[in-house]
Amino acid sequence: MLDIEDFSVAYGGLRALTGVSLSVGEGQLVAIVGPNGAGKSTLFKAISGIVPPVSGSIRFEGRDLLSVPPPQRAHLGIAHVPEGRQVFKTLTVRENIEMGAYTEAGRARFAQTLERIHELFPILHERAGQLAGTLSGGEQQMLAIARGLASAPRLLMLDEPSMGLAPTVADQIFERVSQIHREDGLTILLVEQRVAEALELCDRGYVLETGRIVLDGPYQTLISDD
Ligand code: ADP
Ligand code: ADP
Repeated sequence: MLDIEDFSVAYGGLRALTGVSLSVGEGQLVAIVGPNGAGKSTLFKAISGIVPPVSGSIRFEGRDLLSVPPPQRAHLGIAHVPEGRQVFKTLTVRENIEMGAYTEAGRARFAQTLERIHELFPILHERAGQLAGTLSGGEQQMLAIARGLASAPRLLMLDEPSMGLAPTVADQIFERVSQIHREDGLTILLVEQRVAEALELCDRGYVLETGRIVLDGPYQTLISDD
C-alpha cells in the first residue's frame, strides 16, 4: 500500500533522514521505533507532505505521492495524527470529531464512524458536549485518534500516541490501536519511543537511528536480535 524508497530529508545542512526504505502492506500494523531525534516525525511529515525530500520516492496504492499536493493527500486516504495530542481545545469533543470528517469518504461514512468511535472510546460519547480542553491527556489523545478516524482513512499514521501518558493510560491507547487494526482491518503506521510495547503490537517493525533504518523485520526477528 505504501512504499518508500531510498528517501532522504534535510533541514538546511542537517540530514534528518538518509536512504530510508520501507513498505506497509494493506491491513498491516507497522511500527517505527527509535530514540528522540531519530527522524520518526520527519518521516511522517514527509509522507503527509509537510517537509519535502532531498531524494527518493513514496508510492501510495501505486500512485506517486510526491506529485500529489500535500492538502490532497488526506483525500487519498492518509490520516496523520501528529504527536502532542493536537485537538482544538476551545471546541467541544463532538465538534473536534466533526472537523476530522472533512474528506469525502469521511463525510459519507460519518454516522457509522461516529458510532464506531463511541464504541472504541465511550468516554468521548459521555463527554461529547464538553470542551476538548477540559479532557485529561489520555482522553485528548483518544480524541486526536478519533479525529483521524473521522476522515475514514485507508492509512492511519499515529505519531507517538503514548507520549507523556502514564503507563496504564498508554496501555489503554495501545489496546485501542491494536483493536482498530484487528477488528477494522485498518492499515496503521505507528511511531513510538516505547519500543517494546510498539513492537509487540506490530506485524512488522523498523528501528530508526540518526535518520537511518538499522533493523527491520517481523516482531519475532526484532526481539531475538535485540
Ligand atoms: P520530537 O519529540 O519529535 O523530537 P521536538 O520536541 O524535537 O519533537 O520538536 C518539536 C517541533 O520542533 C517539531 O515540529 C520539530 O519539527 C521542530 N524542531 C525540532 N528540532 C528542530 C530544530 N533543530 N530546529 C527547528 N525546529 C525543530
Ligand atoms: P524524532 O521524531 O525521531 O524525535 P525528528 O524527526 O523530530 O525526530 O527530528 C529528526 C532530526 O531533525 C533531529 O535532529 C531534529 O532536531 C531535526 N529537526 C526536526 N525538525 C526540524 C526542523 N523543523 N528544523 C530543523 N531541524 C529539525
